[in-house]
Amino acid sequence: MHNKTITELAKGLRNKEYSSVELTQAYLDRIQKHQGLNCFISVAETYALEQAKTADIQLASADAGLLTGIPIAQKDIFCTQGIKTSCGSKMLDTFIAPYNATVIEKFNAAGAVMLGKLNMDEFAMGSSNETSFYGAVQNPWDIKTVPGGSSGGSASAVAARLTVAATGTDTGGSIRQPASLCGITGLKPTYGRVSRYGMIAFASSLDQGGPMARSAEDAAILMQAMAGFDSKDSTSVDKAVPNYSAGLNNSLEGLKIGLPKEFFGEGLNSDIAAAIETAVNEYKKLGAEVKEVSLPNMKLAIPAYYVIASAECSANLSRYDGVRYGYRCDNPTDLNDLYIRSRGEAFGAEVKRRILMGTYALSAGYYDAYYIKAQKVRRLISEDFSKALSEVDVLMGPVSPTTAFAIGAKTNDPIEMYLADIYTIAVNLAGLPAMSLPAGLVDNKPVGLQVIGNYFTEERLLNIAHQYQQVTDWHQQTPKGFE
Ligand code: GLN
Repeated sequence: MHNKTITELAKGLRNKEYSSVELTQAYLDRIQKHQGLNCFISVAETYALEQAKTADIQLASADAGLLTGIPIAQKDIFCTQGIKTSCGSKMLDTFIAPYNATVIEKFNAAGAVMLGKLNMDEFAMGSSNETSFYGAVQNPWDIKTVPGGSSGGSASAVAARLTVAATGTDTGGSIRQPASLCGITGLKPTYGRVSRYGMIAFASSLDQGGPMARSAEDAAILMQAMAGFDSKDSTSVDKAVPNYSAGLNNSLEGLKIGLPKEFFGEGLNSDIAAAIETAVNEYKKLGAEVKEVSLPNMKLAIPAYYVIASAECSANLSRYDGVRYGYRCDNPTDLNDLYIRSRGEAFGAEVKRRILMGTYALSAGYYDAYYIKAQKVRRLISEDFSKALSEVDVLMGPVSPTTAFAIGAKTNDPIEMYLADIYTIAVNLAGLPAMSLPAGLVDNKPVGLQVIGNYFTEERLLNIAHQYQQVTDWHQQTPKGFE
């Protein structure tokens, strides 16, 4: 069962080959069997089986949807009423949200079953899932390597078939980079397409939730459930949601692909470059035209991002003060001691580094020099994308400069870690949608192809991804031992 797609599982449920309770139990057993991967922070066994029971009743009536009774898993950044939401941090290790994130509500409304909450970098800060309070996640392709981050638990769980699909969030690459390193399909939607209500904030102007699945076809089904206007999120965009599955089979004849030359320069592993070239050639066979384009300000994306993301996180994380919720230190002597020790004891090193950088960048003397400057750079980067996307329909390139790296390889060098997102971060600064598609294996490690589109073109991106997946089978490759 665990090798089936959402559409196939839905068919099996309708044909009564198995019930949702049986399907859910099968996944729960598999999660248990592979718990060494450390994908889950919480497994919601009782909750999932209850939901499955309700889904089975609904399946017996006529009004069941495609996701009814399908077990999926949620990144532990989405608030779930009654089930721990830790955001990968000691700060929220005992936090039980009193309400559901909109994304969770939407999946509940669609009848999906939630298997549990997935491991992630602490407050989504990281590119390897090693900053999690709950420990590193293993990549099923090679358990000595990282799955990428911050949605590392999601990517590893989907790749290892512990769940058919999962959610992730992408502030600077956290859906695409782990999707790439684990050989799965990930979509980071346009900023504002998916509600951020109840999705714990890291950098509010960049954060965006999206689907992580094995195929574009499955990602489209998840996206259908997740997208849409939400009056509870002031940055949610009030725009009609298209049918994401309807156009999957559209022809790519005449599609104009731009290859930004900055994506293929120094630092890109040559085998990855070759895999991307092969993928682009597949698109040519499908009728696409290819030309070189340029994003001249790309090199400024990482510094601008780390000023903006850190500034926003320093403000967002000020709410964890030991007073209202989350961790509180023992026996505080006074209010300052309470703040200092609660935050000092419960935040990890990377989170503290970002809060310090962000507070510095926002301080009176440095605000113009860093924060305002970074915002100006952000505008330049957006303009680069607008110009490139006025010449072509989509941009293609690598997701990550390397394949999965060894656990521990970059933990002592934050700058080296930040460079893992060199090809993904600019997209968030511009707020554009982008996907990562499995496009090859180098030394038996997955390589992701990135496809970047204009605002609100998720439907077209999914179509472009699906057509590639009709003529290649990289997305069907399974890591050894997880077949
Ligand atoms: N790796 C980037 C960071 O640490 C992006 C993380 C993310 O997208 N959540 O900020």
